[in-house]
Amino acid sequence: NTTINDILKQLAIETNNPAYSTGNSWGKSTSEKLIDSYSPVDGQKIAAVAMATEDDYNTVIETAQQAFLSWRTVPAPKRGEMVRQFGEALRANKEALGTLVSYEMGKSLQEGFGEVQEMIDICDFAVGLSRQLYGLTMHSERPSHRMYEQWHPLGIVGIISAFNFPVAVWAWNTALAWVCGNVCIWKPSEKTPLTAIACQHIIEKVLKANDIPEGVSNLIIGDRAIGELLSNDGRVPLVSATGSTKMGKAVGAAVGARLGRSLLELGGNNAIIISKDADLDMSIIGAVFGAVGTAGQRCTTTRRLIIHEHVYDAFVTKLVKAYGQLRIGDPLDQNNHVGPLIDKDAVASYLDSIEKCKAEGGKFLVEGGVLTGEGYTSGCYVKPCIAEVKNDYKIVQHETFAPILYLIKYKTLEEAIALQNGVPQGLSSAIMTLNLREAELFLSTQGSDCGIANVNIGTSGAEIGGAFGGEKETGGGRESGSDAWRAYMRRQTNTINYSDTLPLAQGIKFDL
Ligand code: NAD
Repeated sequence: NTTINDILKQLAIETNNPAYSTGNSWGKSTSEKLIDSYSPVDGQKIAAVAMATEDDYNTVIETAQQAFLSWRTVPAPKRGEMVRQFGEALRANKEALGTLVSYEMGKSLQEGFGEVQEMIDICDFAVGLSRQLYGLTMHSERPSHRMYEQWHPLGIVGIISAFNFPVAVWAWNTALAWVCGNVCIWKPSEKTPLTAIACQHIIEKVLKANDIPEGVSNLIIGDRAIGELLSNDGRVPLVSATGSTKMGKAVGAAVGARLGRSLLELGGNNAIIISKDADLDMSIIGAVFGAVGTAGQRCTTTRRLIIHEHVYDAFVTKLVKAYGQLRIGDPLDQNNHVGPLIDKDAVASYLDSIEKCKAEGGKFLVEGGVLTGEGYTSGCYVKPCIAEVKNDYKIVQHETFAPILYLIKYKTLEEAIALQNGVPQGLSSAIMTLNLREAELFLSTQGSDCGIANVNIGTSGAEIGGAFGGEKETGGGRESGSDAWRAYMRRQTNTINYSDTLPLAQGIKFDL
């Protein structure tokens, strides 16, 4: 319709878009292969993007290598100034980019805007950070010596991103990597190439206005094959990869085999413990939003509720009632709570998980299913569902990227914590309780084993000021706030001797 066409125009999206960009200019692919991007909202084809070849990839890498030689010499606060302007450009394009995120990926319009806001916030954070890339100073054991450490950029940072946060994950990485003095090559998800093309057009104007050399911000379109090239390439010292655990194991192994660095942000299997001392009304909001927001396609989506037996019946009655009020439909219509899944493969995997859950003995309190008819023609709209399960069911141990919520009953908090930790993933976790002892135990060394542990907030979403990431099969990486910037730099320890002798460390004598 007109609105979407206007937005595509504002973001410089064409019917057929090029396969790669080195920042100030777009390259023409040596291949004829295209990726068609379809909207899960209405099933319409939005536009096509060319797929890059290995030759295109090498062009991008060589341009990036060249750019690094000069970019690393630009003072960090000046690099921060470029990121400040990038944040301003995102503010100017927030509505258009947020709408395209919603239309291409299927999340609600509000979440699309929220995702762009996260990009703006990380830019603000990175601008401040550009004057705070601190190292420590130590006292040397030798007289007239000074010892300190400093942080230097790594070089090329490869960014592989997932479909569900099609633009924010790039900004989380790139804003920090740039102020640290790196150049970036982004390989976005093949399911959401247009939002990536739009982002590259936005940064392009900033690069040109500041005479930034070609190769500081690179985009390359392709599927896993391009991801594999990045993972195996010794010219790429850091690969930051967001996606499934399956992908992370492949990337981690390839990068590890060449002793490169990887920053992995992988799947979650997040639980909320609902204690007998919980505020049940507040818990319902946290649980329902956590389970059905983004149609269950967030890495921090609430997949399991571990509920105390004393409040189980009361809580579950409220929960089922709340599910009855959910409006499923066009995510661009702000009256709807739940939009579509990304594509029909995701729908098939949702249906398969429901079958597997039933086969293992799961009892569905709210049935799932695919919606058909007017407004649902894309075939990607599904009903959020709820099942009573055992934590050790195979399907419960697995992350299904869809709105399926599992309920588990518990007696003691120790048992609840063991259940919460009893999955291979370790991203986000929460307890709903007004009991201080329970809250503190949950946050203690005997508590949650996740990278994120919340009290009286659900599992879903996070603020950019904290370090974001998880343990175990979630990959161990940390992005965004706190000192996550260190992952994008190399540490160097420097000792300076300003005496007229050469005393050796540990008092060693070496007379010639
Ligand atoms: P995916 O693993 O299918 O794809 C992610 C990206 O990896 C894509 O760009 C894809 O082309 C690339 N890729 C796939 N296989 C590869 C390989 N062998 N080598 C190199 N690259 C490869 O994931 P998805 O379906 O796009 O996203 C959903 C998953 O992402 C979920 O598991 C979700 O939990 C996870 N996720 C995690 C976080 C986090 O921060 N922890 C954030 C968002 C999404």
